[in-house]
Amino acid sequence: MAKILIIEDEKNLARFVQLELKHENYETVVENNGRKGLEDALSQDFDAILLDLMLPDLNGLEIARRVRQAKTTPIIMMTARDSVIDRVSGLDHGADDYIIKPFAIEELLARLRAVLRRVKIEKESQSVSVSKQQIVRFKDLTIETANRIVHRGDGKVIDLTKREYNLLMTLIENKNNVVSRDQLLSKIWGPESNIETNVVEVYVRYLRNKIDIPGRPSYIKTVRGTGYMVRDEEDVRR
Ligand code: CA
Repeated sequence: MAKILIIEDEKNLARFVQLELKHENYETVVENNGRKGLEDALSQDFDAILLDLMLPDLNGLEIARRVRQAKTTPIIMMTARDSVIDRVSGLDHGADDYIIKPFAIEELLARLRAVLRRVKIEKESQSVSVSKQQIVRFKDLTIETANRIVHRGDGKVIDLTKREYNLLMTLIENKNNVVSRDQLLSKIWGPESNIETNVVEVYVRYLRNKIDIPGRPSYIKTVRGTGYMVRDEEDVRR
């Protein structure tokens, strides 16, 4: 039985979500206060966290950030705000998906199932990839896929977030081919995510800032109206 932490200060909403989750056979813990929610999230093992954005004591973004420093527990942000900036900043702080209030409970349940399914698939694929230690090279980057570490030829480690890493690897796996924004969204955030394609642009920018060499052409080529691609050195010269 999956165990879900609900951090929500609107008590009626929290209770409603809790009842619905119980009805679906989830085990639930509810906290109405941000600090207590964070304590639970860190001290217990949950399969997913439903996290409100505006909370007393500690806001949802800060909770997501601190949970993410310690754990990979999937987080779905529940936010009343509806701007790309808030969504991106939620995702940036480590949330896996978000849902805009007011929401239909069916939508929340669907997102929760999607997140839990994704974790299961990731766990399965990680146990496969760990067994085959692999080094991938792209331009001056060396990627140890088993440890998900990226470094330059000079040995300097490039600190990438999980999504930046997945974005880079998806592009490299499709080297010399265009990967559309939709493909990237589906690959990195999951086929059922609520995330808009302009979030991909934001993450490509983050990734470029980390891997590109200043003053040189970007490693990631924008293919106008389509998506992105990375190419081998030879192709660029051609
Ligand atoms: Ca609130």
